[in-house]
Amino acid sequence: MHFYQKFSRHKKKIGNYKNILYSCGIHPLYLSKCNKIDLKILKKLAQEKNVIALGETGLDYYYQKKNKKEQKYVFRKHIKISIELNKPVVVHTRESIDDTLSILNEIESKKCKGIIHSFTGNVSSAKKILDMGFYISFSGIITFKNADEIRRTAKYIPLDRLLIETDAPYLTPVPKRGKENQPSYLKYIADCIVKLRKINMEYFTEITQKNFYELFQLKDKK
Ligand SMILES: [Zn+2]
Repeated sequence: MHFYQKFSRHKKKIGNYKNILYSCGIHPLYLSKCNKIDLKILKKLAQEKNVIALGETGLDYYYQKKNKKEQKYVFRKHIKISIELNKPVVVHTRESIDDTLSILNEIESKKCKGIIHSFTGNVSSAKKILDMGFYISFSGIITFKNADEIRRTAKYIPLDRLLIETDAPYLTPVPKRGKENQPSYLKYIADCIVKLRKINMEYFTEITQKNFYELFQLKDKK
C-alpha cells in the first residue's frame, strides 16, 4: 500500500477532531516503497488544512546505508515542499547527523524551519542545530540508564527551543519499559527534564506548549 493510501486511511480512522493535527512525510526507512508520483501526492496531502508539518523525513544510516543518495534526494524534496508551503519539517536522523546538518545548511534549505525529533546527539551537534533556528525534541530515550550524554545535552538546550514527544508506540520511557508507549507517559520525560533543569513542572509545561504553538505556527488557532 502506498504511503498516501495509508495516510488517508489513518486520517479517516481517526476522524475529524480539531485537536488532532498531522505531519505528513515519507520516512527514510520506507523509501523502497516510494516513487516519484508519491512526491507529487505528498505535496498535495501536505497542503491539507490539518497537516501542520512535513515529516518524518531525514536520514537513517543505522538501518540503511546502501541508499544514502536516495535518502538525501527525498529529504531535500521534503525541505523544498516545506519551504513552499511554509510548514516546518520534522527531521529523523540516526547515525547521520553530519549529512543531515549539511543538507539543512545548503542555500536552498536556509529558509526551512523545523525540529530534530527524538534527539540523541551531543552538545556540539545541538549547538549547530540551534544556530539554524531549529527546535530539538527529546523522547523516552532521555530516561534510559545509559543516556547520560543525552541528559547533558538536554541541560544545555535553551528552554524556548525544547520540546518533548512520545514517538509512540516506540521508546517507552522508564519506568514503563516493556509497555506500549502512550501520550500519558510524556510526564516521565517531563519529570526527567524538570529535575535536570531544576525548574518547576508548571513552568516547563507552559514553555513547551508555547514552543509547540510557535514552531507549528498555530498561535491564532489556540
Ligand atoms: Zn524518527
